[in-house]
Amino acid sequence: MAYDQNNIFAKILRGEIPCEKVFENEHVLAFNDIARKAPVHILIIPKGAYVSSADFYEKASADEIVALNRAIGEIAKEKGIVESGYRVISNHAAHAHQEVPHYHVHLLGGADLGACFN
Ligand code: C5P
Repeated sequence: MAYDQNNIFAKILRGEIPCEKVFENEHVLAFNDIARKAPVHILIIPKGAYVSSADFYEKASADEIVALNRAIGEIAKEKGIVESGYRVISNHAAHAHQEVPHYHVHLLGGADLGACFN
């Protein structure tokens, strides 16, 4: 699937649409999900143009991959949810109901999220 430069996260990255930013560095932007499903619900996205996780892990540089994964831990620490726990989810393509075709990771926490696979 080709990357759509007009997807909503591309517009957020270009500053055309606002977001509640919680973290940013050279490779990564993170912001609050507009329809949060937990007290902490943050989307962590690479600044590069990657459609989904398969695209990202195939094409991104090692620096980009490390930056994104390290951001998850840094944000969890900053939000104070490392001890209590959190969940990291990434929806890839149709069966997972990926809505926005720019790779993103959901970081959820701040409350008991229930068991995932029961
Ligand atoms: O993983 P998936 O693609 O299904 O999730 C997209 C997420 O992006 C949703 O949780 C939605 O609430 C969020 N979103 C957002 N800000 C927007 C558009 C979508 O936080 N402007």
